[in-house]
Order: sequence, then structure tokens, then C-alpha cells
Amino acid sequence: MQSEQTYVATPVQKGGSAIKRPYKLIEIIQETPSVKAFKFKSEFQEKSYFKPGQFVQIGYSLDGTRIDVQRPYSIASAPGLDTLEFYIEIVDGKLTSILNKAKIGDIFNISQPNGKNFEFTPSKNKRSLFIAAATGIAPFICMLRYIEQNRISENITLLYTVRTKQDIIRATELEDFARKGIAKVVITLTREENNPDWQGETGRIDAAKLQKYVPDITERVTYLCGSNQFNSTMTELLKSFGVPADKDHIKHDVW
Ligand SMILES: Cc1cc2nc3c(=O)[nH]c(=O)nc-3n(C[C@H](O)[C@H](O)[C@H](O)COP(=O)(O)OP(=O)(O)OC[C@H]3O[C@@H](n4cnc5c(N)ncnc54)[C@H](O)[C@@H]3O)c2cc1C
Repeated sequence: MQSEQTYVATPVQKGGSAIKRPYKLIEIIQETPSVKAFKFKSEFQEKSYFKPGQFVQIGYSLDGTRIDVQRPYSIASAPGLDTLEFYIEIVDGKLTSILNKAKIGDIFNISQPNGKNFEFTPSKNKRSLFIAAATGIAPFICMLRYIEQNRISENITLLYTVRTKQDIIRATELEDFARKGIAKVVITLTREENNPDWQGETGRIDAAKLQKYVPDITERVTYLCGSNQFNSTMTELLKSFGVPADKDHIKHDVW
């Protein structure tokens, strides 16, 4: 193992959490046709304490001394482990190209957690609504794992939109959360209106789906995670139901 000094990044570009720690890539799973799950383990067996919903910067160093490229990613694993898990869409940009070619044993540098605005905290009414698009499910998987492990009594409804059945990230685990009563899980496919293998919802998340699955919407704190466009559309929809668009009622994670 190389010394700690070798890996402490100097100086980190684009601001953010300056200190990064070395993590070894220990698992790569082709999660969906376009998304890979990456699991990293701390080189120093450090447990990572963060709030569910937070993100880190994953950095890569070409020469082992300074970080050449870094991008933020939501943590999908539960807090308190010496491993960190991510669901990353491979878009052939700077970092995802490196990740796509990465091998087990490769070292990446991971920052301290960040992103206070999207932390999950049990709400006053003990009711939350999670709305995710595509890889936007990542922070919610973290939250649901955390809620289950800590037996937090929060009534959760998760609305999750993806294009096709094979784009669903962690389908079995989401089914398990529903079966165990951790969350009501509603998945809707936007590009498979006529798939005979799909008995669930199809089409976008709209007013009819909110009425059907979240009749108590104004009593819930909503967490939104998706693209800018997705979050804006959902915010307008929530507003049309009388949900105030302030940070006490709607929390955003946008990428
Ligand atoms: C808080 C936060 C959390 C996030 N969490 C996640 C997560 O959990 N999972 C996830 O998948 N993403 C997540 N992201 C997005 C992530 O940070 C990156 O933006 C994404 O992975 C792309 O990084 P990249 O370096 O591969 O692409 P970049 O190099 O930054 O490129 C960005 C885009 O430009 C396109 N592009 C790049 N070069 C070219 C070119 N020459 N010609 C045409 N197009 C080009 C790429 O295809 C890509 O779509 C998160 C973002 C934020 C802000």
C-alpha cells in the first residue's frame, strides 16, 4: 500500500471539499444497459460518516499525486461503512470514460461528504415523498437503507421514473423495501406503454399519478432528484397541488 501522503490531493480544482482520501475499486456491476454500480473501499479502513442524501467528489489522478478530474456523485450506500457505493451513468465524459475503463484494484480519491440541503431528516408529520428520475434514485437508495437499518418510522412514498424496465436501478432491492413496508414504491416507465411484461405504471409522473399515490401530498416533505428540467417540472406540479416551493417542503438534488 502506498503511503497516505502519496494520495492526499493537492490542491483540489473547482473548490469543494479539499481533502480527499484514497479508495480502492472493489466491485463493478453492469446495473442497467447504461449505468454501472461502483463499490470502493477505503485504503485506510476508514468508516465514512455522512448524512443520507449527501454526495462526494470522486477524483482520479493520472500520476498518483494530484487530481486531474473530479465529479460529484450521490452516495448510495448507507453511512458508517468503510465502503462507498455509487450508481453512475456512463456518458463518455471525462470521468465516466475513466470509470468505464477502470479495473478492480484501481485507486480513486474521494472527498468528504457534502450537500447539506438534501440530507434526509425525519419530518414533523413523519411523512416524506421521494421523487427520482433515472440515476436520481441513488441518494434515495441510501436513504431507504438508512431508514431500514435504523428502524426510522417515517411513512415514505417513492415515485421513480425510468425509460424502460431494464433501466430500473436495484429493482429487487426496491421491491424488497416495498414488501417490508419501508416505502410505498411506484415505478413508472416512460418508453414502454405496451410492454406485456410490465404490470406497473407507464408514462410520466403527472397530476393523476400524484392524486392516485400521494393523496396526502401537502402533509409530506418532498425530495426531488433528477435533471434541472425534471426538478422544475415536478416543482410546478407540486405547486399546483398547493405545496409551497420552499426548502421546508421541497428539497432538491439536481444534476
Ligand atoms: C450533487 C450531484 C450528484 C451527482 N450524482 C450522480 C450520480 O449518483 N450518478 C450519476 O450518474 N451522475 C451523478 N452526477 C453527475 C456527475 O457529477 C457528472 O456530471 C456525470 O457523471 C458526467 O461526468 P463526466 O466527467 O463523465 O462528463 P463531462 O466530461 O463533465 O461531460 C458532461 C457531458 O458532456 C458530454 N460530453 C463530454 N465531452 C463531450 C464531447 N467532446 N462532445 C459532446 N459531448 C460531450 C458528456 O457526454 C456528458 O453528458 C451528480 C451531479 C451532482 C451535481
